[in-house]
Amino acid sequence: MRELILVKYAPEIFLKGLNRNKFERQLQKNITKVLKGVQYQFVVDQNRWFIYSENLQEVINRVKRVFGVSELCIVKEVEAKLEDIEGAALERVVNSKADTFKIETNRANKTFPLNSMETSRTVGAYVLKNAEHIKVNVTNPQCVVNIEIRGKAYIYQEKIKAVGGLPYGMNGSTMLMLSGGIDSPVAGYLMARRGVELNCVYYHSHPYTSERAKDKVKHLARILSEYTGKINLYVVPFTEIQMQIIEKCREDELTIIMRRFMMRIACELAELKKSNSVTTGESIGQVASQTMESLVVSDDVSDRPVFRPLVAMDKGDIMNLAKDIGTYDTSILPYEDCCTIFVPKHPKTKPRLKEIITSEEALQSDELVKKAIEDMEVYEL
Ligand code: ATP
Ligand code: MG
Repeated sequence: MRELILVKYAPEIFLKGLNRNKFERQLQKNITKVLKGVQYQFVVDQNRWFIYSENLQEVINRVKRVFGVSELCIVKEVEAKLEDIEGAALERVVNSKADTFKIETNRANKTFPLNSMETSRTVGAYVLKNAEHIKVNVTNPQCVVNIEIRGKAYIYQEKIKAVGGLPYGMNGSTMLMLSGGIDSPVAGYLMARRGVELNCVYYHSHPYTSERAKDKVKHLARILSEYTGKINLYVVPFTEIQMQIIEKCREDELTIIMRRFMMRIACELAELKKSNSVTTGESIGQVASQTMESLVVSDDVSDRPVFRPLVAMDKGDIMNLAKDIGTYDTSILPYEDCCTIFVPKHPKTKPRLKEIITSEEALQSDELVKKAIEDMEVYEL
């Protein structure tokens, strides 16, 4: 009798119809990737996935972060025979030290002589007879023992929540504007969780932003890569653009014009790296540059969809998510970012597109974008 991990994937994947195979294949590929370096055996029994390893805890730690996996259960594998199932179920109930229990059976193996209901009832009666001080409670039991009858039978009780979502790599690719702040790593995580591949761009204002600020962004990309596998981070020099804007444009338009340059570069890079969209960590109304008017004016320079998965979220909720996914502690490290250095005293909160376009005529926009991309650095994290 050995213990295995039952890997349950997101119910959404079941709904994919003819595409389901593709999603399953991608998910298996992603699981294989995260388990690199671990000794394990992948077991399929009538459409259910199991992983056997000497090091179950390590497998759990890694696989629970794979997008598309919704739940992991540590199961005891026994022969599909009633007496073996009864023994394993009894052991689970006794170990749980619960006062009340319930048995739930799922029988995919139709050659097993009892149906699901009959199995639950028979095994339940066996447990009642052999465990002391225990009662059945079907509405609110302290302990639920699950029985899956397939080629073999699998008995489990504990369920470990995994990240859910859809397999990474199934839904196109996006160019994530990744700053060192709290929001953009969360935005990237949410897109990746829907299966969208991430490329990241960071605008670096050397020497106004330090090497340590860049390291912080690299570290954030590395945390995201624990969920996704390798991520490319493009570090684009931004100082020249900011200097030109400061020199040639109105002070209250600095922020919005700067944001339009970020967008232009992200789109240009997206084209080069085959990302069909851009993602930012903006949330409506959070700061002056995130008013509806500002978002519209910065989208004007984009040639592809711009996704803002945090648009309707409160800051507190975003912070909680950042803590859950493990980026928060890095995000709050106090290094300067390029936007805080060049902040106008009274930024325009309702920029008008026509006026901004006119102001930008003083700049050689195409040249500036081209030069910044030529000089970028690439990191694989
Ligand atoms: P964050 O917490 O993600 O830094 P924020 O609340 O500080 O966001 P802004 O500084 O206005 O907001 O930035 C809005 C979005 O623009 C960020 O979420 C990010 O997607 C992008 N962004 C801002 N600064 C940079 C940068 N230096 N490099 C790359 N992207 C950036
Ligand atoms: Mg920021």
